[in-house]
Amino acid sequence: MRYRMEGASILTLNAQGDQFENGQLTWEDGTIVSVGPIDSDLQPVDQVIHVSHGYILPGLLNGHNHAAMALFRGVADDSPLNEWLTQYIFPMEAKLSPEDIYIGTLLACSEMIHSGTVGFVEMYFAVEQVAKAVVQSGLRGWIARGITGDRSSGNGALEDGLGFAERWGGHRLITPMLGPHAPYTLSPEMARTIGEAAQANHLGIHIHLAESLKEVDDLKALGLSPVSWAKSTGLLETWAVIAHGVHLSDEDIAVLQHVIGGIIACPISNAKLGNGIMPYPLLRKAGVAVGLGTDGAASTNTLDMFLEMKAMAWFQKLREGRPDQFRALDALLMATQGTAKVLAHAGGVLAVGCPADFIMVEARSAHMTPEQDVIANLVYAASGHDVRYTVVDGQILMAEGMISVFDEREVMAEATLRAQHLIG
Ligand SMILES: [Zn+2]
Repeated sequence: MRYRMEGASILTLNAQGDQFENGQLTWEDGTIVSVGPIDSDLQPVDQVIHVSHGYILPGLLNGHNHAAMALFRGVADDSPLNEWLTQYIFPMEAKLSPEDIYIGTLLACSEMIHSGTVGFVEMYFAVEQVAKAVVQSGLRGWIARGITGDRSSGNGALEDGLGFAERWGGHRLITPMLGPHAPYTLSPEMARTIGEAAQANHLGIHIHLAESLKEVDDLKALGLSPVSWAKSTGLLETWAVIAHGVHLSDEDIAVLQHVIGGIIACPISNAKLGNGIMPYPLLRKAGVAVGLGTDGAASTNTLDMFLEMKAMAWFQKLREGRPDQFRALDALLMATQGTAKVLAHAGGVLAVGCPADFIMVEARSAHMTPEQDVIANLVYAASGHDVRYTVVDGQILMAEGMISVFDEREVMAEATLRAQHLIG
């Protein structure tokens, strides 16, 4: 089937910054076959979707998530990271059934589709259920099996992750990864074992690093930083998607320059847990790939990447004390090509041969008027609620604000019941 969307402005986000007012985008078999001004491609198509007064742009890629934690939204808000994890989150996670994780992930997917996210990087357990929900939702998922503990307690999770990778490797929408959780939840020996397994099986890793000052201080006693700890265990020898990167020294950044992969900024989670602000200008200057993510909805409350883009821009301006150090376009590029680069994924741009992963954002609203600066409106004025269409791998997951791939009301009702049981 060949599809075409036309009538809205197209922001390609390509290197030339091409935009087509009244454009058309044509796709087939999950791939963009043409993009340009209206009537630039006269080849017949099976379906034409007319849209107007809005923008078609690459879909957003959420580089760090724990999707099923959407069930814990609003639990123990305003607590410090350590207390929040050990007194609230870990005990509730111990009660989670695979079915809870399936429903929680679908709830998160529903929120992501609504707010223009086309793919996300996940770290959790019961990854078989996560993958089932992701495939049902039609989103792309880079799914890492979370692993904690030492060689005896963590080995089961590693085996589980390797089994998952064997079953799902090569799937069109799913990329399995291994998820060594963090320096403070893993023994160095277990981290080394995970790194070796990742290399032997050609898998990437997804890890939390340099998130809080406590993590930095605890490792200082061993003469290490979070990044040097990860390097010393061999975890950075493979493709690495590193969440947070808030507290980084010059030596850390020199190490990160040689990592295949990159860092995912999670500004709202970092702010809410009082952890600090990433030194983005230093990473950019060093040429480290940096993408954007929300972290789980338990810490960030929402998976809306539009809000995350605003937060990224605000906090960088605050950190540097200068508004011109981080522009609206920087935020939009981080949320699209930035994350794509960390993932070595071809998305984040609308060009022939690229994945048909895009969104249409409505501009017919008071808060998007006037349209002096489209990028500023998208980053600073829009929210996820303005997204009307979400298309992934050529499949229309949401049309006119309605999700067509599953019954989201049923998912919300079920999630409410399950959350009451888990929290109560
Ligand atoms: Zn996280």
